Amino acid sequence: MSESVRADNTITFLGTGGARIMVAHQILASGGLWLSLDGKNVLVDPGPGCIVQVNKRKLRAETLDAVMLSHRHLDHSGDVNVMIEAMTGGGFRGKGKFYAPADAFGPEPVMFSYLRKFLDEVITLEEGGKYDLEGLKFETPLRHRHPVETYGLVFHAGGKSIAYITDTRYFDGLIDTYKADLLIINVVLTEPRPTVDHLTLDDAEKIIAGIKPKAAILTHFGMNVWRAHPWEAAEGMTNRTGIKVIAARDGMVFQLSELDKNTKS
Ligand SMILES: [Zn+2]
Repeated sequence: MSESVRADNTITFLGTGGARIMVAHQILASGGLWLSLDGKNVLVDPGPGCIVQVNKRKLRAETLDAVMLSHRHLDHSGDVNVMIEAMTGGGFRGKGKFYAPADAFGPEPVMFSYLRKFLDEVITLEEGGKYDLEGLKFETPLRHRHPVETYGLVFHAGGKSIAYITDTRYFDGLIDTYKADLLIINVVLTEPRPTVDHLTLDDAEKIIAGIKPKAAILTHFGMNVWRAHPWEAAEGMTNRTGIKVIAARDGMVFQLSELDKNTKS
């Protein structure tokens, strides 16, 4: 029985902050994404404070069907243990799946070992992987350029494709791979930094212009992006690309049906 207070085919932004300084100060929350797609509830990248944001947004963790990590970095995995406990009713109502790249499982695993027995299944994500969460289909088509094993996610739901381009350095394969109706892009930087494997605002615009989704949502803002006013950056991108670009806000709920309104033709 999967019952949620959230309408189906919505994406709730439990946090829009990313990287160390932003997460440390919680100027923006770092709770990840709650996807309600085709009757399934999926939590992606539960960073520090996710459990607080889930309850604040009146979502019910026990309705989750799965928890997923794009990668093991703390701003994506900080609350993974408490969220698995909450999904499984403290272990009293064992269920649900946990998906993560192989390096999240050791030698310094992100999940406490006692939680395994509460879960129906623990699944390792890999490049080119295709997954079926009881009818909800998703893929991890590409390994990203990031210091740890990292995969973006592409979901297929409600007749639409939703790509989550998580942390990565820019490379052309991103445009070739993430052809989707909706792009969600993690944008940490305003300016490129040679030693930091993250996307800049310019990188995000290049990806959006290359893929031409029906809409794109920017999130996971580092301090400099936040200071640069991401909503203004998004407006500029919309004007230049002709594609609707939205800067996510903490607690924002995006309805997939919005994509139909943005179709140009
Ligand atoms: Zn990262």
